[in-house]
Amino acid sequence: MKIGIVGCAGRMGQMLVQEVTATQGCELAGGTEGPGNPALGRDVAAHAGLDACGMEISEDAEALFAASDVVVDFTLPAATANHLALAQKNGTSLVLGTTGHDENGLAAIEAAAKDITIVKAMNFSIGVNVQFAITQQLAGILDDDYDIEIIEMHHKHKVDSPSGTAIGLGEAAAAGRGVSLDDVSARGRDGITGARKKGDIGFASLRGGEVVGEHTVIFAGENERVEFTHRASSRGIFSKGAIRAARWTDGKDAGLYDMLDVLGFK
Ligand code: NAD
Repeated sequence: MKIGIVGCAGRMGQMLVQEVTATQGCELAGGTEGPGNPALGRDVAAHAGLDACGMEISEDAEALFAASDVVVDFTLPAATANHLALAQKNGTSLVLGTTGHDENGLAAIEAAAKDITIVKAMNFSIGVNVQFAITQQLAGILDDDYDIEIIEMHHKHKVDSPSGTAIGLGEAAAAGRGVSLDDVSARGRDGITGARKKGDIGFASLRGGEVVGEHTVIFAGENERVEFTHRASSRGIFSKGAIRAARWTDGKDAGLYDMLDVLGFK
């Protein structure tokens, strides 16, 4: 399967080139960068720290889409718009990891998915997506006698809290119980807060060191506690999941899919 990487000199782009090269049954179709990028003209694989592959990093996205079965896009929303048009023109599947699309961008993705196969995810980690699916299931099985608390820890540089993934886990737990997270979310407890309300989903954030990302969902019952933890140690988890998604597109009908489709949860 021929896989092209747009934005191949970026942080994720380089990891994606490494992952394609290391994955049996996958062949690197080439890589592009945006206009003026200093990596243009360099060898795609050598720039990712591998042995040279003989293909230069190019600005010619049209040629890359024509040469690829599937293209992986971790770039910028403005670049994705052009990539969608090229994918439609060439019948190429797309794996979209780029975040920050506005309403128009999201509408363009949905429109293109009528013609081509697109897998889009805010988080391509296989483990995190398993944690989302299991959290939703467990929240449905363990009723509100089990108090749900979500703890996350990240490096000291992170500026927002709770993490987007923690909120996603809260949404999954709320969906499992058939409620809206907005109605049951308990955040930022401090001081005399009163007793915990039955059915609340609580959040706690820890910050320190260089922790890449840890999320634990706790179901605390009367005499037992179920805990489900995911620990990330490298951004390589995103490239591994994205290339799994790229391989999964083979032979799939046009449509907009996510990692839960890829992992067989839907
Ligand atoms: P980065 O800035 O290191 O890389 C982005 C690359 O895209 C850069 O090299 C840039 O030059 C290139 N680019 C910009 N315009 C381009 C164009 N027109 N054609 C080709 N290349 C172009 O950023 P990053 O950390 O690799 O993240 C990239 C995106 O992926 C961000 O939106 C980030 O939020 C997202 N991301 C998603 C996940 C996920 O699991 N969904 C995980 C990590 C990052």
